[in-house]
Formats: sequence, C-alpha cells, structure tokens
Amino acid sequence: HGHETGDALLLQVAERMSNVTRNYDLLARFGGDEFVMIMSNLQERSDVIPVVEKILAGFKSAFNLPDATIQITTSVGISIYPEDGNDPSELLKNADVAMYRAKAEGRNCYNFFSAEMNLELQYSQWIETNLNNALKNNKLELHFQPQVNLENGNVESCEALIRWPQENGDNIQPNDFIRIAERTGQINELSFWVLNEACRNICAWYDQGYKPVRVDINLSGKDFNEKGVIYKFLRTLKKYNLVPSQVGIEITENVLLESTEQLIKALKVLHNAGVHISIDDFGTGFSSLNYLKQLPLSGIKIDQSFVHEAPNNKDDLIIMQAITMVGQGFGLDVVAEGVENEWHYSLCKGVGCHVVQGMHLSAPIAADKFAKKFLKKA
Ligand code: C2E
Ligand code: MG
Ligand code: MG
Repeated sequence: HGHETGDALLLQVAERMSNVTRNYDLLARFGGDEFVMIMSNLQERSDVIPVVEKILAGFKSAFNLPDATIQITTSVGISIYPEDGNDPSELLKNADVAMYRAKAEGRNCYNFFSAEMNLELQYSQWIETNLNNALKNNKLELHFQPQVNLENGNVESCEALIRWPQENGDNIQPNDFIRIAERTGQINELSFWVLNEACRNICAWYDQGYKPVRVDINLSGKDFNEKGVIYKFLRTLKKYNLVPSQVGIEITENVLLESTEQLIKALKVLHNAGVHISIDDFGTGFSSLNYLKQLPLSGIKIDQSFVHEAPNNKDDLIIMQAITMVGQGFGLDVVAEGVENEWHYSLCKGVGCHVVQGMHLSAPIAADKFAKKFLKKA
C-alpha cells in the first residue's frame, strides 16, 4: 500500500492505543511496527490484563485509511519489573520473547514472560548454533528400525530415524530438536541430509552384497514449503542410481491439517513416480478419513499410543481395529508402531495389521548392525 498508507496506519494505531493509556503511562513507537507501553503503579501482575484486553479489542475493527481499509492483528508481550528483569534492556528483551510466543500462538493475544520461556529461548539458541555445527561437521547419524510383515516375518522396509550423539555420550532427542529446526528453518537442510544419508546407506548395503529394503524417511510439513523440493528429492535418488520405490516418506497428520494445494500436488508427483507415502502417528490429530480418500497414499501408521493402551483399554483396541479396516479397504499398508512386547504383537496380529514396528522386534540401530541382523544376502 506504499509508505504514505503505512504512515497513516501507524498514526491511527498510536491513536487507538493512546485511548487506553492512563495519563501516567508512557506509550512510544519503538521501531517498525512495534510499540512499547510502560505502565507504572501496578498493584498486581493481573492489573495489566484489562488494559491489554482493551488494546486488543481496539484492533478488532478495520482501519480506514485514505486509499485502503485494512484489518490488522496485534500480539502483546508483557514483562514486569522486578520479577522479569532489573533494567530496561532486560525487560524489553523479555517482553519481546513473550510477544513472539503470542505471535506463535496465533496472534491477537497476549502473553506474560515466564522463566520457562527464558529457558526455552536459551535452549533453542543452543540447539540452533550446535545443530548448524553438527550438520557442517557430519555429526548426525541415521539409525534404522525394521518394519516387519506379520504374515511371514519378513523385513520389508525400515524407518530411518535421526540421532544426534553428544560428546558426553548422551543423545539429544529428535522430538526436542526437530521442532526447533522447523522454527529456525534448518529443517530443510536437515531433511536433505537425511535423504542423502538414507540413499548412501542403501548403496552401501548393495556394495556389501545385501539385498536392501525400502527406507522410509520422516519429512516435515516445512519441507514442502521449499520450492522445487520434489525435484530435489527425485534428483537425489537418481544421483545414487536408486528408483523412487526404494525411499519412502512419512508425514504426520498435523502436516495434512494445513494441506495446501502445493502439498497435495507434491505428494501426487511423488506418488506417481513410485514413492511410498505414509501418514505417521495416525489417530492422534484430526484423523480425517477424507485424507485417505483425497491423498495419494500407500500406507498409514497407527500411533503407538493406541498400541500401548490397547492391552488395558478396549476403546484403543477398537480404534486400532477401525483404522486397520478402513486402511485395508483403501488398499493401504497398515503399520502398528511401538510394539514393545509379545502382548502388543499378538494384539496387532489379531486386529489384522500388516506390519509391525517396535522394540519387541528391534530398537533403531546403526546401518551396519541393521544390515547384519535384518538384510538377506543378495
Ligand atoms: P516417529 O516417526 O513416529 O518415529 C517413531 C518413534 O518411536 C522413534 O522415536 C522410535 O525410536 C520410537 N520407537 C520405536 N519403537 C518403539 C517402541 O517399541 N516403543 C516406544 N515407546 N517407542 C518406540 P525417535 O527416534 O525419538 O523419534 C521421534 C520422532 O521424531 C519421530 O516419530 C519423528 O516424528 C521425528 N523424527 C525422527 N527422525 C526424524 C528425521 O530424520 N526427520 C524428521 N523430520 N523427523 C524425525
Ligand atoms: Mg515416522
Ligand atoms: Mg510415528
């Protein structure tokens, strides 16, 4: 809309906000689209809330500008002296952290800074820096967990799971760093590393005289936002002389929630090329049966929580049965995850799943161990 409209909007925003300030509060435009309000004489933290709610309410109606009518959202972060900082810069920094959290929570809301947010912030920054180094210095590892056909006991495929070993012998869990990598944008590089490493291992298994199995990698929804990702995927397989059916992908249900035209198109191209596509952790999100109808899928993976509860809870068993039946009706492979013992194993068999995966069969293990234990000599 141009600078002039922008300036006019800023003036009106300032005006609306001034309407809720008391005369001993201070309101200032801090830069860009950020405003800072300093409120004194608070008795309690919660005294801020009515004021913030008035600010948010003030943004509900559209702004009438000379050549446009504009609707905007606002996010508010709150820090309080002295609990959240002893000096202005710390208070501002922490209000900023709280504001970003409010933004992430869907905008048009407010958030108080908390010590937990600060820890999370430090942790994220640590992960970001160190993950960059790990990617650069090839410090990540890929482990493989067999997916076993229940009828004949054959290992028909495996899932590749990323591992980040630390010098002290600990591992940072994928659940902890993947979500941060998604936020920082490092996920694309990470997924590309996983794909390459999966391909490299398939080739190494060939070279060692094994008959490799399909390797399924986990992709994040963010991977599909990257332009040209499908071609990058297919080109990588080609580089290793692999055909598309040798590497499958798993995407979680929540990715599908935001399923855009672009995502569906990407999945169709991959599926048509012969890539095995499964929905991971099925049953935990919205589990719309519509996905099964609309999306080009090859399999669904029943979330491990159902398998774990099924021995003691009939509802979970019924859900497993239902998912299996629907999946099979659509001609999909149905995999049960998190099979930890004989009991889980026989429940899955009873329910009619095709494939099981879990500690009962094997933990995820390094590539050479996996080959020795589960691959047949060609
Ligand atoms: P997921 O894709 O659902 O993977 C299955 C998780 O269950 C893995 O955890 C696996 O180690 C664990 N698991 C396997 N068998 C059993 C069992 O019998 N009992 C229990 N309780 N757990 C079992 P992991 O490796 O910690 O990974 C967690 C999640 O992190 C994965 O869930 C996946 O969503 C994500 N992830 C892992 N590797 C990657 C990756 O390379 N890229 C991306 N984007 N995400 C990954
Ligand atoms: Mg998975
Ligand atoms: Mg899963």
